[in-house]
Amino acid sequence: MTKIVFLLIAINSSWSWAIEHHCIANVRDEKQRIVKKEVSLQELRSIDSFKGRFFEILEGESEEAIKFSNKKLSHRACTVYYHLSKARDYFSSRYDIAVLKRSRRIRVRINMTRGWSDTDYYMHKDLVTSYNNVYAIPASKRRITEGVQPWGPELWFSPAKAIKKKSTLSKTLDYVTTKEMRTALLTGVFEGNVQNFLRQRVGGEELTALESEVYLASFLVSIGSIVFIPELAKTVSKLFNKTVYLDTAMIPEVIYHEYTHIVLSDFLDVGKKTPVTEAYANFFASDISGSHAILHKAHKYSKGLIKISAKDPAKFDYWMDDPSAAQFHIGFKLLYEIKKGLGKIIGEEEAREIIFQTYKKLSFSSTLQKDLLYELVLTVKEIYQNNPGLMQKLILELRLIYQELGF
Ligand SMILES: [Zn+2]
Repeated sequence: MTKIVFLLIAINSSWSWAIEHHCIANVRDEKQRIVKKEVSLQELRSIDSFKGRFFEILEGESEEAIKFSNKKLSHRACTVYYHLSKARDYFSSRYDIAVLKRSRRIRVRINMTRGWSDTDYYMHKDLVTSYNNVYAIPASKRRITEGVQPWGPELWFSPAKAIKKKSTLSKTLDYVTTKEMRTALLTGVFEGNVQNFLRQRVGGEELTALESEVYLASFLVSIGSIVFIPELAKTVSKLFNKTVYLDTAMIPEVIYHEYTHIVLSDFLDVGKKTPVTEAYANFFASDISGSHAILHKAHKYSKGLIKISAKDPAKFDYWMDDPSAAQFHIGFKLLYEIKKGLGKIIGEEEAREIIFQTYKKLSFSSTLQKDLLYELVLTVKEIYQNNPGLMQKLILELRLIYQELGF
């Protein structure tokens, strides 16, 4: 199903050629169900493998792109390549973002169980085995171990594995899939919420029921540097004694969510997760997929997890601005409502532009409640300075949306 098309396109006064490959990918149909469909992959740079101009799909630690003929992996590789290309087109057709212009292709590892280290690239084999996750790997910094090759941003999709969850909070560590990973958590390999959570657990501090739920949800979403597991806070109690399973490489909006992290890393590093950065990743994931929800009707590929829907009711509470609640859906809902609300006045494309331009002004300490609104208003003032009437109307609408969501 591979076609080589010779195109008479002059790029920098040289002739270019394009390879097209048809394969079966998971896509969402008009009823938002995940179905298998034949798709056409573009911008390939190999006639027999998933190696393209912008992405190459690798199995685990392999450095060779997966072959089209690989029966076991081609559906998965095709799905990832197809949706990454779609997400890339979405961003590059709208925004001027440096990360999209870099010539280095993004390595995408599927069926990847290794952990990532910011100095050594791979975490030691015995330390971590990863399942049910996907990681947006930031490009190497200056200080990496001698002999290790520098790397660009990458995406690592872990394989899915059913994990039976236990019934009490004291069993929380069992949620982590391996003994090695539990050790890694306890010895502080991972930072942020997980450590805070464990400190509280180990320190024997009492947590309120609500805090426990939020922390537990946060714990589940915090394994690894950037991990996509949907928000669980509001319904976490329903999840006990369930089997959890997430096949990240097979769900379009999960792929969009992680790729968004990489694209937006031009402005904020992918290394940290906050309610604002997660709200943006979920917002763009839903926008690219044209759906109001994430993990909607994904039962075959996601078990025991709750969909994130912008149409679910939510009222702001102070804890939702804490990084430990980064995956809670209020931020996503807020941006979604802003796109709709401002969209009615200026059109959704303009509304999207305001949301996007605002991101450039944010930092990791930006809150949903105060900083995001402040910067949104500032962006509106900048863009519409020559039209004070419209500017005021948009600012009023922003304030109304905020009010309606209880901010
Ligand atoms: Zn994320």
